[in-house]
Amino acid sequence: MTFSVRSDFPATLPATHTEYCFSCHQTGTLTAHRIDGKKMYTCSACGTTNQRLLIYDPAMVSYFDTQDRLVHEGCGVIPVRSDGKLLLFQRVKYPFLLTIPAGHLEPNEDPMVCAAREMTEEIGITPIALEQIFTGPIEGDSCMGGADIHFWHAYIAVLDTTVTPHLTGDEGREWGWYGLDELNETNAVQPLLHMLADETVREKLANLH
Ligand SMILES: [Zn+2]
Ligand SMILES: [Zn+2]
Repeated sequence: MTFSVRSDFPATLPATHTEYCFSCHQTGTLTAHRIDGKKMYTCSACGTTNQRLLIYDPAMVSYFDTQDRLVHEGCGVIPVRSDGKLLLFQRVKYPFLLTIPAGHLEPNEDPMVCAAREMTEEIGITPIALEQIFTGPIEGDSCMGGADIHFWHAYIAVLDTTVTPHLTGDEGREWGWYGLDELNETNAVQPLLHMLADETVREKLANLH
């Protein structure tokens, strides 16, 4: 796995949202487009097409750790039915796999508020109650914006069996209910699998039914 590091960015970090080519690190050279519905970035400077880019955005919590690796903070909700099945959707952006509603934490934002906001935005369901279920760093969790480590704040929301999500198509397409035994590294995002392997999370899900 390749970690995005401090040296991939300019010596003086920008004060506004800035995008850099994932390959040559130039800015102002990317054009976003879709291939088979998947979001891609083509660079006019080096000619490469990447699924990822480097983003530096002061409106997003990000920092470099002691090894100079880029870290983002992520917030998400595991939506689950009382039978233990998870409501997941297919991402249209890198890494294009099944995921939970989640997003990046903004400075001074309460992680639980962030998680609830992402759930409303991405699947059209506003959670009534969220319970914190996982907090901590997950290495190897690569996002489209260039980080390979995310510090997570994850919650669980127990949904009514009659609830129907509404996807805007911006973040995700097909959705469905999935059992834990149906998820693996070929179809689900790495941080979700990491969380589902956590003892506390497993116990919580097992005790719903
Ligand atoms: Zn480039
Ligand atoms: Zn990220």
